[in-house]
Amino acid sequence: MTSAAEQRARIDALFEAGTLPRADLRALIDGRDSASADYLFEKARIRQTENFGRDVYLRGLIEFTNYCRNDCLYCGIRRSNRSCNRYRLSEAEILDCCEKGYALDFRTFVLQGGEDMAYTDADICRIVSAIRMRFPDCAVTLSIGERSTESYQAYFDAGAERYLLRHETADPAHYARLHPPELSLENRVRCLWDLKRIGYQVGAGMMLQSPYQTTDHIVTDLEFLRQLQPDMIGIGPFIPHKDTPFRAEPAGTAELTLFLIGVLRLMFPAGLIPATTALGTIDVRGREKGILAGANVVMPNLSPTGVRGKYLLYDGKICTGDEAAECRFCMQQRVRSVGYEVRVSRGDAPRFRAAAARGCSAPPGAASGKD
Ligand code: SF4
Repeated sequence: MTSAAEQRARIDALFEAGTLPRADLRALIDGRDSASADYLFEKARIRQTENFGRDVYLRGLIEFTNYCRNDCLYCGIRRSNRSCNRYRLSEAEILDCCEKGYALDFRTFVLQGGEDMAYTDADICRIVSAIRMRFPDCAVTLSIGERSTESYQAYFDAGAERYLLRHETADPAHYARLHPPELSLENRVRCLWDLKRIGYQVGAGMMLQSPYQTTDHIVTDLEFLRQLQPDMIGIGPFIPHKDTPFRAEPAGTAELTLFLIGVLRLMFPAGLIPATTALGTIDVRGREKGILAGANVVMPNLSPTGVRGKYLLYDGKICTGDEAAECRFCMQQRVRSVGYEVRVSRGDAPRFRAAAARGCSAPPGAASGKD
């Protein structure tokens, strides 16, 4: 049993030190209740305000392909899902999404897709350069999975500055139960360190309450993140998809996701932490609650409405029928409703903002292998 006083002491220690011994992290997560969650979120908001004021950053999400060469067991667009209605956006369609997004104040475009090798490295580089040329005050984030070091370098040289690659679980045995044999945690981790060395702002993160996950696995995730020191950390609940082997598994809860957002804010005071669509899917006010738990990023969808309903990693995904403008203003209202404000800005990670002010493009340690 964990007493209320013990929980507060753990949260106070995490607030002060930004870390806790493994056993205390486990006890904090397992001992959570509404009182300790409220106290955690209070502390998380202090760190959030110190680093970002009341600002919440917008990212414009462009889901440009739902083809994927992989077969992750939890994913609705896995290659063996024959019911998935596949699509690819052309370069012109992607640029059109950016055009609309720019007019709606987006200053970051996130190009997300399955591992679709129909887009060659040259294609990706050309698309990235075209966006940077046309919208020089905007950042391009890629989220296109595991690639070679050379590919990552080429995308970076073309102008991509950020890369999202959730590790999903940092426990190798757990990883193997969620992925087909050809995928390994080792390669996933190699990709993340490559991206850091090259100089990207890197995003990692995990799925919560995926099948077979234990609290110990989550603690391993937190320890892995502490080692990696990503700039962005995306977490979300597992939500089953009807055409996957995990169709009958129970979904994760908003309650645990929110608690972990609070823990992450104390561990990474300057981190960019999104209130995700998955959180909004399992709780109608999940994204607002996410901001109050310490999140500071929202990612409205800029994909054309005609393809929205086809990029379904899980069942029940929200906002699949709304126009980009509706999503953007809906999100602004949601953010305002909890006392925060959407900021028109690239929303760089603080250490990169400091590097830009010094006149260099990457923070200390990048490209040196010291990260
Ligand atoms: S999780 Fe990503 S890599 Fe895995 S099947 Fe889905 S889109 Fe492909």
